[in-house]
Amino acid sequence: MKNIKYIPFHKPTIPKEVITSIKGSLDSGWITTGPKVKRFEKALSEIITKNNIVATSSCTSALHTAYTISDINKGDEVIVPSFTFCSTINMLVNIGAVPIFVDIDENSYCIDPNDIEHRITKKTKAIVVVHYAGMPADMSKINKIAKKYKLIIIEDAAHAFTSIYKGKFIGSSKNLTCFSFYATKNFTTAEGGAIVCSNIKQENRARIFINHGISKNASTRYAQGGTYQYDVLSPGYKYNLSDIHASIGLSQLPYQKVFRKQRLNIVNRYKNGLINNNYLILPTDPPYPNSTHAWHLFTIQILPSSKCTRDELFSFLMQNKIGTSVHYIPNHLQTYYKGKNKVHLPITEKIASRIISLPLYESLSNTNVDRIIKLINYATKNGIK
Ligand SMILES: *Cc1c(COP(=O)(O)O)cnc(C)c1O
Repeated sequence: MKNIKYIPFHKPTIPKEVITSIKGSLDSGWITTGPKVKRFEKALSEIITKNNIVATSSCTSALHTAYTISDINKGDEVIVPSFTFCSTINMLVNIGAVPIFVDIDENSYCIDPNDIEHRITKKTKAIVVVHYAGMPADMSKINKIAKKYKLIIIEDAAHAFTSIYKGKFIGSSKNLTCFSFYATKNFTTAEGGAIVCSNIKQENRARIFINHGISKNASTRYAQGGTYQYDVLSPGYKYNLSDIHASIGLSQLPYQKVFRKQRLNIVNRYKNGLINNNYLILPTDPPYPNSTHAWHLFTIQILPSSKCTRDELFSFLMQNKIGTSVHYIPNHLQTYYKGKNKVHLPITEKIASRIISLPLYESLSNTNVDRIIKLINYATKNGIK
């Protein structure tokens, strides 16, 4: 045991070129939002095949921006899965909206389209969709409901950079879509995010909101030939991405296809090694045609018939120097929300009590994947006593 190295839950893959890229920004004297962010936004546009992309400081700030420019206001009800990171919900509450928690689908772990309609009231303004783990949500069904009741859809695509739904990249729909480039995501700028808008009007509103509500950003204010003039249109926030962060993103982008392939190899290795274990439920590929899972997370369910519980497996793997995680503890069971929104979400609660997310990143070796598989098979079949 002493000689075995700890396998962390996550380790970002940062190409060597990042040093040159960051040095370029430092040497240029322009370190915050400037030419690199512009290049980064353009590069994202080319991948997602959509213009009007605004880089932000995080997905959390992108969500705040999306909710605000959708005119979600105080008292508006927003239908949102409880099975997500608290950020999705917190930003709704911080603008005074009321989250109406909805259950998830048993297989995709994304919002259950059949659990939406009966939660709609006169106050309902929007539906927030989370593409869990990189699995695209069932957008056709959700779009139909939104159209029928004239609701806005916002997509939390924090896990879904490079996910494909029915032949199109997540982010290329007409809905405001928010990405996360946080350190543990499948693509990273250390801290960062982006909001994908559908037209120049939305894009302008987003750019103003993330820059104090000022109608001109710093790069035009301080560039040669610029003007000192600026105008505060409404009190905004400071949610811009810096050129240093964009440099990290730009150095990673050329490797997206290679990274995807490496992640897919690990996913297939896990699946092969765990498929015959009847105490587990493994994640599936998207159940729609021409669709691709981004495999940000590989989340397994430990069934009640298993000889060890989820919590026992978590500790057992930790004792064996393997880091795992749980995505997510449902929001409607968190201290702040359980007092306010009493709701029972049977599928969310069941799945949340059974899941564990396994290490999944480009540099994870086959030997380590095999060790993880062996330990999981051992513990679920024999118990850990
Ligand atoms: C990580 C995450 C966020 C927040 O992303 P940040 O970039 O860290 O702000 C939001 N929603 C989901 C589903 C996430 O996993």
